[in-house]
Amino acid sequence: KNFVLAIDGFSSCGKSTVAKALAKQLNFVFVDSGAMYRAVTLYVQRHNIALDDEDAIQKALDDIHIDFIPNPDKTQILLNGEDVSDAIRTMEVSDYVSEVSAIKSVRKAMVHQQQQLGKKRDIVMDGRDIGTTVFPDAALKIFMTASPQIRAERRYAELTAKGELVTMEEVKENLSHRDHIDSTREESPLRQAEDAIVLDNSDLNQEEQLAFVLDLVKQ
Ligand code: C5P
Repeated sequence: KNFVLAIDGFSSCGKSTVAKALAKQLNFVFVDSGAMYRAVTLYVQRHNIALDDEDAIQKALDDIHIDFIPNPDKTQILLNGEDVSDAIRTMEVSDYVSEVSAIKSVRKAMVHQQQQLGKKRDIVMDGRDIGTTVFPDAALKIFMTASPQIRAERRYAELTAKGELVTMEEVKENLSHRDHIDSTREESPLRQAEDAIVLDNSDLNQEEQLAFVLDLVKQ
């Protein structure tokens, strides 16, 4: 049976950074499930689809095709063949993604695709409901946390490095907005799986985080 490593947690806890490094080290495939919800959000925004228009959402889901292209330096995400790796990281998408992710039909479609991705290869998948809903039988589940201040600083640094004009206040507001919706939505809300191991990375550097998880993988 192939190995599934699930990494869940709130926004900007450093999940994907650790997940990427682990995938490289273990020669697993890295899947960023948040990128999939972001791609759906981008599509919905571009087509001006109302979130309460169930038929239009379903039609959009039928028309959306998401691919991951693993590159040594960066995994690209394709939305119907177009590289949207950068387009999905803007504040415009971040401000709307939790609303889109709370829609039942959206979750159903994405969870199904994620499960397919994990069927054949050893994978590291990061998200909010990977250990609870997508892969409840994952071989190892990590729940990552970090202090709100550190999370906001990280996200702010990421966005400004890419030239996005954003204030620290806006970043903090976006994180608490998403935390709230993600953890209170009806369908597979963000929560720690009972058998998940907590990794608080507030005071750990990259190597220490990696060593912590690798140790668990080997057990
Ligand atoms: O991981 P990232 O912060 O890019 O995820 C963006 C958003 O996608 C989250 O705030 C959440 O609303 C949604 N998401 C989700 N379930 C996942 C991964 C992400 O609902 N498994």
